[in-house]
Amino acid sequence: INKINQKLKDGQTFFSFEFFPPRTEEGVENLFERLDRMVAYGPIFCDITWGAGGSTADVTLDIATRMQNQVCVETMMHLTCTNMPVEKLESALLEVKKAGVHNILALRGDPPKGQDKFEAVEGGFSCALDLVKYIRKEFGDLFGICVAGYPEAHPDGIVDDPELMEQNYWADIAYLKQKVEAGGELIITQLFYNTDIFLKFVEDCRSVGITVPILPGIMPIMTYGGFKRMTGFCKTKVPADILEAVEAIKDNDEAVKNFGVDLGVRMCRRLLDAGVPGVHMYTLNLERSAVGILERLGLIDTARVPKPLPWRHVPTGTAR
Ligand code: FAD
Repeated sequence: INKINQKLKDGQTFFSFEFFPPRTEEGVENLFERLDRMVAYGPIFCDITWGAGGSTADVTLDIATRMQNQVCVETMMHLTCTNMPVEKLESALLEVKKAGVHNILALRGDPPKGQDKFEAVEGGFSCALDLVKYIRKEFGDLFGICVAGYPEAHPDGIVDDPELMEQNYWADIAYLKQKVEAGGELIITQLFYNTDIFLKFVEDCRSVGITVPILPGIMPIMTYGGFKRMTGFCKTKVPADILEAVEAIKDNDEAVKNFGVDLGVRMCRRLLDAGVPGVHMYTLNLERSAVGILERLGLIDTARVPKPLPWRHVPTGTAR
């Protein structure tokens, strides 16, 4: 079975890992060393992002090919419409097809640097829906297609006026349904820190007839700066108790990391108890937080890993 949504059907609780393409060749080799270890834990799939504006197209294609064929893990490649005329999308899809990668996360992408509004490049698409339709039309059922979901609505629709916010939220869900009807078989969500918001989103999606699996995107808090940057960029609502706890330890990197693992464990437990089928970890190419959370949830057995975990051998109190 190559398609992720088919793999999910066996009903076991699962997890998956997301990575991004490193900037340097050395970074790529380090990533593969890490991937070898992390794949031994048994993620149901791993995915590799498409750099903003298509900036990493070649590296992403290369990494996806190696992940599928050398690391031998079911691989999903992200693909965005930003700066991608249809011929470029086609050649990227033909390349992954040749490489045996059968899963694509179809995205619109953010506007190119320096632009606030997304505009289709000449000969390109203006939204993820068009890309999903295109993939189905040109490649039939060859690819498993995943699409992005936003439990707090897409940042473009996040406004102060509560009435308008509610309208935008439901418009986003209606649009998500179109992406699913056009061929999206799986939804991965944007990061969030309020599990109630995610669970309500799933319920709301179900209420309009979206039946495909919805995987929560979990981004462990790893550094104070990264947490502030990402939640600011995505306009994430951070519950007051979490924000206060992080602010109180913001100058202690190790304490922030540990808090991130504790919080990740609590969030995932709540989601799994509520019937969520699995969790999608935004690893940021690091293993300690994602693996630490899964280990504490009992979803992985670190004894299965062939190489020792590096942080286990670091004297206590020393940050990696
Ligand atoms: P779309 O699904 O097209 O939607 C964007 C917004 O526009 C929504 O609010 C939607 O409701 C509205 N909209 C668009 N078209 C219509 C329409 N026809 N009718 C009504 N409403 C419409 N970015 C990267 O650059 N590379 C990545 O690898 C990447 N991976 C991501 C992975 C996940 C899981 C997520 C959640 C996001 C990822 N992003 C990535 C970010 C993403 O590209 C941005 O959030 C982007 O702004 C929107 O992409 P989308 O596919 O969700 O867009």
